[in-house]
This record gives sequence, structure tokens and C-alpha cells, in this order.
Amino acid sequence: MHELSMAQGIINAVLDTAKENNATEVNKVTIEVGRLAMINPEQLQFILGVLIENTIMEDAEINFEEVPVEMKCFDCDFHGNAVLDDSDHYAPLVKCPKCNSLKIDILNGKDIIVKNIVIEKPDDA
Ligand SMILES: [Zn+2]
Repeated sequence: MHELSMAQGIINAVLDTAKENNATEVNKVTIEVGRLAMINPEQLQFILGVLIENTIMEDAEINFEEVPVEMKCFDCDFHGNAVLDDSDHYAPLVKCPKCNSLKIDILNGKDIIVKNIVIEKPDDA
């Protein structure tokens, strides 16, 4: 399952950062999800909830931020956010908003990134 390896990667990244900073608890995690990352956010959230049990991020508030698809058009040189026909969530069609071309280069919007985490340190007490 795609979401499972994604979730594991996110958790490893968060826990690594938390450990480097001597965190005792992770309070909040913000995750950027590209519109083309091909994941189901609800499913990802569910798996994360299961996997973080018994870790220091067990009680963390997890937020998802959607990242628009940035593209460059080979036909008209448009550079900006693409138009997405994502009636099919797993195979969205990406088009140039200016000339409707499908000959485009996708620059951003395919990744899942841990953008920010809020941790608690022993000193905070
Ligand atoms: Zn174009």
C-alpha cells in the first residue's frame, strides 16, 4: 500500500527530527501534500494514527496542507499553477490553464513533505 510507506517515511522523518532536538513529545506536525502525490489523505491520516501509537508523537495534532501543482507548458511557455481535473483522484489530468496543452513539465506538487513540527523539550517545563 502506497499510503503505508508514505506514512512510515513521514513518521521516521518526524521522529528523527524530534530525537535530534531532544524532544520529549511532538505536539504538532504539518505535512504538505502535493495534489499529484497520488495519495488518499484520509487513508494516510488513518494509517498515521495507527502507526504513531506508543511513540512520542502519539498525541500530536497532524495537519495536512494541500500544495498546488506548479507547471511549465512546452507549447505556450506558461509557468504557474496547473488546472487539475481530478474527478479521478488517482489519475488526475494536468493541463495548461492558458492553452489546454497536455505537454507540460510538472515542477512541484508530487511530493509529501514534512513542513513543520512543534516539539516539547525537557527545558520547556
Ligand atoms: Zn500552454
